[in-house]
Amino acid sequence: MTKKTPFRIALWCMLPMLFLSSAAWGGQDSSLRVEPPFWWTGFKESELQLMVHGENISDYSVQLDYPGVTVQRVTRVKSPNYLFVYLDIGTGAIPGEFDISFSHDNETLEYRYRLQAKNPDPEFTRAFSSADTIYLITPDRFANGDPDNDNIEGMGDAVDRSDPDGRHGGDIKGIADNLDYISKLGFTAIWLNPLLENRMPSYSYHGYASTDFYRVDARFGSNEEYRDLVRQARSRGIGVIMDMIVNHAGSEHWWMDDLPTGDWLNFQDNIQITSHEHISEQDMYASEYDKQMYSDGWFVETMPDLNQRNPLLADYLTQNALWWIEYLGLAGIRMDTYPYPDKYYMTEWTRRLMVEYPHFNMVGEEWTDNPAGVAYWQAGNRNKDGYVSYLPSLMDFPLQNALRWGLATDEDSKMEDLRPGGLLYLYRALANDFIYPDPSALVIFPDNHDMSRIYTQLEEDYDLYRMALAYVLTMRGAPQIYYGTEILMANPGTEGHGVIRSDFPGGWEGDRKNAFTGEGLSDKELAAQNFVQTLLTWRRDKEVIHSGRLTHFVPEDGTYVYFRHDDSDSVMVVLNKNTEEVQLDLLRFDERLEGYQKASDVITGESMQLGGALTLPARSVRVLELHR
Ligand code: CA
Repeated sequence: MTKKTPFRIALWCMLPMLFLSSAAWGGQDSSLRVEPPFWWTGFKESELQLMVHGENISDYSVQLDYPGVTVQRVTRVKSPNYLFVYLDIGTGAIPGEFDISFSHDNETLEYRYRLQAKNPDPEFTRAFSSADTIYLITPDRFANGDPDNDNIEGMGDAVDRSDPDGRHGGDIKGIADNLDYISKLGFTAIWLNPLLENRMPSYSYHGYASTDFYRVDARFGSNEEYRDLVRQARSRGIGVIMDMIVNHAGSEHWWMDDLPTGDWLNFQDNIQITSHEHISEQDMYASEYDKQMYSDGWFVETMPDLNQRNPLLADYLTQNALWWIEYLGLAGIRMDTYPYPDKYYMTEWTRRLMVEYPHFNMVGEEWTDNPAGVAYWQAGNRNKDGYVSYLPSLMDFPLQNALRWGLATDEDSKMEDLRPGGLLYLYRALANDFIYPDPSALVIFPDNHDMSRIYTQLEEDYDLYRMALAYVLTMRGAPQIYYGTEILMANPGTEGHGVIRSDFPGGWEGDRKNAFTGEGLSDKELAAQNFVQTLLTWRRDKEVIHSGRLTHFVPEDGTYVYFRHDDSDSVMVVLNKNTEEVQLDLLRFDERLEGYQKASDVITGESMQLGGALTLPARSVRVLELHR
């Protein structure tokens, strides 16, 4: 049922080329592919799986001679072209190189393997937290720093900027070149949509169909460039969060024509598409059939669903995550389609990562409006079915949904389910936080790469846009802002992903508009950019916003008031959706205002005495620092 493309037919012919390029990592025998390409000493778990791929390699025996390193076991599988070699990297192993010999009859193949020292500096992998604000970038669409890598011979899907779903040429260099812009806006973390190779014949730019788990797509750059980007970002106080997918690979992945085992994929011989019925994983009445159709079904036909219940594949995927954390010095992982893989595998994946990096952070994507469905996956949740997770954070989709509808619907409106719309809808959604083990660890966002731009969701209402942004930047959790949201990027009249992920103005040579310099931006776009920058740079050092308590009051008459407060600071946030100026009676907020005489507005810079009432301009948001 998958599309047969020239790539797949030609895969075996291309293998020598693939082997050659992977040889760049170690100086090994060019007829072998070994993954991970190198490893480290110093991991708590001493076992290391090497996936060895080469013609009839299962006929060969394995030897090595290196202090502290032993071959534990060798597993042969259905395909004769794989060996799974399990090494023990004992505490006595020191960084260095050694040969692994593969012998059969009179032939011996040598593979030079490298062990590096794991970076002992905790700053190297310092994780993002609610102290950070995350800039989400779709690399193909942000900036084209290197037009020379736009098209790579043999990779297909040539650059075509007139095609919203085609490749546009953005790359790692484009991000590196513009780190100053990101830093100046006030961001302290970047989440990059996937950069790994997507050798797919079309629609490859988004990066979610990996065809090599150990290699950056050449059209984005190289592994080394990715590592240098992370290093440069760190030096500016910006951590990088890698987008990762263990649920599926791309149908053009190099192993697809020679799968190691008969159960490497789910529905390996009779593709079924997932039901997308997320709740099957938590539904105490779910049939085994529904659970399987949800979890084992393929996301789409071009993304084969990986069977993480296969222990060899499970080890492969977990090591891959550890490899990238240690190779790059990551600040976090955003796990795509979090509830779709085998959920017990995800327990093990999160456990192992947290064992090796106890202060690390991972955020899972569980796209549902139901907070109970999100809470199920968060570390520390007491699930009735006994399910245990070690995942620190999740994307707060329920709050995103509530923010949108709370702002976009009239104050006296009813939702489709007859619940009240308006700010009360938002208030009640937040009040559900009691269901989470740690709501402050969630990642909150007005929009992302998979949904309409927030400016479009709010029907290009600039006042509501300001409320949405101010809310996200003062609310509990770690805010994430999608690139271009700071300049009101929109997708009018379409929900097409290719349009949502439009090119960032100024990222391509010859762009008339340049958001990096401000050149050609409209007054409104400049004002939005300035607004976001003001709040972001203010938030950067505000512990009371990062980790302070939250107290909110039931919305009344089109206004919603909440406070962030700790022992030393207090911030009052007021949303006013009324179309006229309002005098907000402050009596109701006494418990939080007691002892405060003055306030300063973070957005306008205005100072005011706190009396009996607070003036709220029509359709406005105020972020007030309170002073004694
Ligand atoms: Ca490029």
